[in-house]
Amino acid sequence: MTVAPSEQPVRRLVLVGGVVQGVGFRPFVHTLATELGLAGLVANGPTGARIEIEGPRRTVTRFCRRLVTDAPPLADISTVDTSELPLVGGTTFAIAPTSSGAGSTLVPPDTATCEACLTELADPHDRRHRHPFITCTGCGPRFTMTTSMPYDRSATTMADFPMCRDCMAEYRSPADRRFHAQPIACWACGPRLRLSGPTRGEGRTGLVEARRLLAAGAVVAVKGLGGYHLVCDATAPSTVAELRRRKGRGDKPFAVMVPDTGAASLLGHVGPAERAVLSGPERPVVLLRRRRSSPLAPQVCPRCPDVGVMLPYTPVHRLLLGLPGDPAGPVMLVVTSGNVSGEPLVTDDGEALSRLHGLADAWLWHDRPISVACDDSVVRVRPDGSLLPLRRSRGYVPARIRLPVPVRPVLAAGGDLKNTLCLAEGESAWLSGHVGDMGSPAGTRAFERAERHLRALTGVAPVLVAADRHPGYRSAAWARRYGPPVRLVQHHHAHVVSAMAEHGVREPVLGVAFDGTGYGDDGAVWGGEILQADLAGFRRLAHLAYVPLPGGDAAVRNPYRMALSHLRSAGIAWTRDLPCAAAADDGELTLLRQQLERGVQCVPTSSMGRLFDAVSSLTGLCHRVDHEAQAAVELEAAALTAGEVGEGYPFTLDRPGRLLTAVVADLRSGTPPQLIAARFHVAVADAVCSACHTARRHTGIGTVVLTGGVFANGLLDQLCATALHTAGFTVLRHSVVPPGDGGLALGQTVIAARVGSD
Ligand code: ZN
Ligand code: ZN
Ligand code: FE
Repeated sequence: MTVAPSEQPVRRLVLVGGVVQGVGFRPFVHTLATELGLAGLVANGPTGARIEIEGPRRTVTRFCRRLVTDAPPLADISTVDTSELPLVGGTTFAIAPTSSGAGSTLVPPDTATCEACLTELADPHDRRHRHPFITCTGCGPRFTMTTSMPYDRSATTMADFPMCRDCMAEYRSPADRRFHAQPIACWACGPRLRLSGPTRGEGRTGLVEARRLLAAGAVVAVKGLGGYHLVCDATAPSTVAELRRRKGRGDKPFAVMVPDTGAASLLGHVGPAERAVLSGPERPVVLLRRRRSSPLAPQVCPRCPDVGVMLPYTPVHRLLLGLPGDPAGPVMLVVTSGNVSGEPLVTDDGEALSRLHGLADAWLWHDRPISVACDDSVVRVRPDGSLLPLRRSRGYVPARIRLPVPVRPVLAAGGDLKNTLCLAEGESAWLSGHVGDMGSPAGTRAFERAERHLRALTGVAPVLVAADRHPGYRSAAWARRYGPPVRLVQHHHAHVVSAMAEHGVREPVLGVAFDGTGYGDDGAVWGGEILQADLAGFRRLAHLAYVPLPGGDAAVRNPYRMALSHLRSAGIAWTRDLPCAAAADDGELTLLRQQLERGVQCVPTSSMGRLFDAVSSLTGLCHRVDHEAQAAVELEAAALTAGEVGEGYPFTLDRPGRLLTAVVADLRSGTPPQLIAARFHVAVADAVCSACHTARRHTGIGTVVLTGGVFANGLLDQLCATALHTAGFTVLRHSVVPPGDGGLALGQTVIAARVGSD
């Protein structure tokens, strides 16, 4: 009797690479093999999981396919290599114990508490009822808890919490949800939650007291996954105003934490896509279009069209918002980074007490150390449901980004503000969490700590370093001290390639790179660029016409200076009826006029970000800013309330003067600023479209990349994409890394270290 080829027995070796340890992968493999009636074993190998699988050829093939398609949520499979083995026989499938010294495999991002754990958290009969550190293989801290590799409890900040007998039994049982979950703990063996301050308490008592303090208007420093937050009741105007005063934060919006998507929908518009992102495992802050009437104190996000909302992602947050049966307490909490404005996030308990002294009234903390700082991520959801990342950090980091081409081992140092760094090798890149401003010694220390940590987790040993060409960037200065040879990359080229990389594109594109500031090859400040770009190089096809940037930083902080500079370049007189001229006193105007005439400290700029600033001031919306992009955000906010817009202003990038003339004419005829703001947005989208038309005619390229910090503007992003689609272009927008400088390092990596770039 003959056996059909598909039924003939085979034994196959399957090596699975990527994030497959501590995520419930081996129990999953065991269940799958048993379900299909296959024999063999699974073990942790040096680069992932090692599986031997035996049975009828067709079933083995099915097993290999489902290994990838049905993998557990936290697993991220990057490679599957198979080879044939001699038959062994047998009928059972086994999980081999972890041999000590199993090599490097990757760590997943921190993940919001799963439904199964939440159910236990609220169950009075569960042994982890109300346990502030409940977790399993499907959820909980990972990235911020891991100190080195291989990923094992001893290589995490749980190393000093030996498991009790009950936890150990779960950890060792392949059938258990907590099989090989490194962070598991319980009341008997886990970290301790404590409240310090005017009143003290441990565990449940500490939480009850923290909630009472919040209800009474206190600011409580709460230790989260990647650092400390400052938390207060978001519905109490005087409390929020007090937090704002203490943080010295000006008008910069605060994020809010609410218990569920129902509560979120009271604050802003929540559609199906927003709901999915809000309650997804990454739990970012989601920017929602704000409702006019909301229970929030007006001080939470003044003069901003959006409200940043997130749902709880740790058991501590859940408990802080109250479980059913708890006494009433605030359920809408301001949750903002625990730091003095401009400084990195506080992660150390001692520092939390000293540096947050005067900011917080009490501290809700615990004794599990934080291995690396990791801020909350911030995203926007586009009308088509895709994600527009504004800050890629907790929940997303260190998920691997697949590159379109292999690279040599490289470190990219990124930009200067809102910074992230990137390590890459082969076709894999890993971005650090948001490091932020490199301006202070503490900022540089945070950058170095992030670099060491990411290097320990990925095992990448860089043979070269990529950095921005800006001679003044501290990240570039740091790169020169780092060791391996440095390769400098033009800022806007890096922006364009970062978008190409996340879309897996290698072919030349038209890059629309709009941002506030980037060092240009001619020494000017670029930022309104149309590039023809590929992974190797770029050509500047068009740019916003140069105007003087009077006084560098002073022009950035004072949009009225940019408005006046643009007016002067357009040949429009500074008359007092124009709000930007009225915003400055006579002395300032005289000095500025002299400065522009003599060209003192007036670097030419093609910055689109500065044009948004100029128009924001020109229309009377915002003359001075205390945080990045404030004037542009207020302009967008105004545009969103305009109603029927009609035509945009006449505008081409090489001649912004016509646009300025039209804005001034509208102002003088009493057109409302909202309508001017909207017409301006339409004009910019039209200008992008016509520049791309011209570029396509000259180059034959029909793919357009939209990148740079200006594209954090949801309205502009949408207008440009729609116009370009209508004109037949393929449009690539960011949905993995931010369009701003937080995504820069990814592009630097590919440009500098592409194999073949010598
Ligand atoms: Zn869980
Ligand atoms: Zn225990
Ligand atoms: Fe930039």
